Amino acid sequence: SLEVGIVGLPNVGKSTLFNAITKAGAEAANYPFCTIEPNVGVVEVPDERLEKLAVMYKPKKVTPTAMRFVDIAGLVKGASKGEGLGNKFLAHIRQVDAVAQVVRCFADDNITHVEGGLDPLRDIEIINTELCLADIETVEKRLERLQKMIKGGDKKAQVEMDLLVTVKAALEEAVPARRVIDTEEKAALVRELNLLTVKPVLFVANISEAEVADPLDNPYVQKVCSYAAEEKAAVIAVSAKLESEIAELPSEEAKEFLAEMGLQESGLDQLIKASFKLLGLITFLTAGEPEVRAWTIKKGTKAPQAAGKIHSDIERGFIRAEIVSFDELMAVGSYSLAKEKGMVRLEGKEYVMEDGDVTYFRFNV
Ligand code: GDP
Repeated sequence: SLEVGIVGLPNVGKSTLFNAITKAGAEAANYPFCTIEPNVGVVEVPDERLEKLAVMYKPKKVTPTAMRFVDIAGLVKGASKGEGLGNKFLAHIRQVDAVAQVVRCFADDNITHVEGGLDPLRDIEIINTELCLADIETVEKRLERLQKMIKGGDKKAQVEMDLLVTVKAALEEAVPARRVIDTEEKAALVRELNLLTVKPVLFVANISEAEVADPLDNPYVQKVCSYAAEEKAAVIAVSAKLESEIAELPSEEAKEFLAEMGLQESGLDQLIKASFKLLGLITFLTAGEPEVRAWTIKKGTKAPQAAGKIHSDIERGFIRAEIVSFDELMAVGSYSLAKEKGMVRLEGKEYVMEDGDVTYFRFNV
């Protein structure tokens, strides 16, 4: 399943943010993977389209899609050398699909910073260095193996070798592997190595409550943004403390509270949406009287595999998908009108699903 790991130096607000995530947690009954582990939080992915479909279909049930966040504590300088909980920490990161790094951008003299003063770029670099060092070790081991394979006459090994030599040189300059591995072909070549610095990264700038209306007024946030742009990483700014308070409010009160602060949505919702995008995921929708539901698929998924998310029988017996885009459906106001106007397409096995496809699968039992 698709998971985002939350990392960061001590005292930057990770646990506070993770608390907000678990408090806002999803209704476990709806999701098969909701076994309760203390460091895993499952959240529903907010999607305004579900509410609009619910108005149209008046279903018995509305089911959003969900994703998992894992709290990965214990990173300190020296983690790659096995200091502290270092090795365990790195093993945890290896299992997640993307990384959200909490960076402290709030000033508070009462809360010590492990590395001295407030300096988010230094913090980012400390973590980046540890991850690069761990990857160098992985790459070196693989290079030794590849050398033997090449001596043994394995021609394919040379391509991987060339790529890994470039990756290693980058890592030695503290440049994450993701900057070098920039095509799907290259990614496929090194996928099994499960490099830490290949994973997509989102920086979560933790700011003070007073700054949430205009995060860019915080100069540290600006710095994180320019750094992230170079690193092909995303950034969002939240106040972890505020989020953990909002997560305790009933949803109506939370909405009012956000409106008073001049905010469209909570930082947590921003985090969830940004993470979803970071993972390369899209949503397709199914709608009917029993249930209106969002389903998660990887960008590029074809219709039969998307059907397989609902049930393996539907994938196996797939005939066609009846599809109308959410926007077109809303524009005409009902499925039957969309059909009349020829907006409902019949798509076959090779159709690549798009975000917001309202879908009905036809299949043989
Ligand atoms: P972790 O070690 O990264 O998990 O950090 P914690 O979440 O435990 O936070 C460390 C301390 O910083 C706690 O005392 C939090 O209450 C405080 N803290 C977290 N977020 C904020 C914030 O946005 N503003 C302020 N002033 N304090 C915060």
